[in-house]
Amino acid sequence: MKFLVLLFSVLFVSNCFGWGKIGHRVVGEIAWKHLSPAARKGVDKLLAPRSLSYVTNWADYIRSNKQWDKAKPWHYVNFAKGESNYHKITHSKKGDIVQAIYLMESILRNSKNPKTHKTMALKFLAHLVGDIHQPLHAGYAEDYGGNKIKLNWFGKKSNLHRVWDEQLVEFQQLSFSEYTKELDKLGASEIKKLQRMTVVDWVKESVDLRDSCYKFEGTSLGYRYSYDHVKTMERQMLVGGIRLAGMLNGIFSNAKYSKKQNSAREKVKIYISPKAFEGMPQF
Ligand SMILES: [Zn+2]
Repeated sequence: MKFLVLLFSVLFVSNCFGWGKIGHRVVGEIAWKHLSPAARKGVDKLLAPRSLSYVTNWADYIRSNKQWDKAKPWHYVNFAKGESNYHKITHSKKGDIVQAIYLMESILRNSKNPKTHKTMALKFLAHLVGDIHQPLHAGYAEDYGGNKIKLNWFGKKSNLHRVWDEQLVEFQQLSFSEYTKELDKLGASEIKKLQRMTVVDWVKESVDLRDSCYKFEGTSLGYRYSYDHVKTMERQMLVGGIRLAGMLNGIFSNAKYSKKQNSAREKVKIYISPKAFEGMPQF
């Protein structure tokens, strides 16, 4: 029984992380490349001696600490079939990824918050902006965002969520810095356009991409699935990094929100307590 419990927890934990370690680091590294000098200084002040890309996986590491159980629902949001408008769904009182991203942003913007809270908020933000761009983090509740879709990835037992979190990225055999170099080639006008969009727009994009992740025949995935989906996966990591940079540049220059961003933000009810970090362990 003990073994089963252990096995279950190992399987469960390994199945619900966001992008795997490489994917999250790509998002963090691309963001770093697009930070203003002020934002780099602000980020360094909170994270030194660690880098932005390094801390992107912290929010997954702390899952092993029970004290952080309350943060588990912050990594995703569920949409039923046919729904794509975040404002129209029933919002979880335990929080979700849209609420959490907005909360982290507001914690970072409030100069009265202690440094330790801001550091935690930055680490969460750097992680969650990655997660929200993984289409299965805007998944269906009934299959746990693809976790219940059992399949084989190149002959090894896996599930759809895990393929998207880790295996599709790892299969490309690029380090996070190689991947960053490879992807980070957008023009200035496209970057601006991407950074103008709201968190509610981001999640809609993921919902719109989500069903295409389920397009495959049989239960053995491999070269063909990678060929069909690698572009979407790469685009989502890139866009996540660009948007994380946009948000951090706004935070550290204390920029006012645009009208569009303000109205999206005001419509999102944040159920997570703004005191969520009080007394919490940093490691
Ligand atoms: Zn996550």
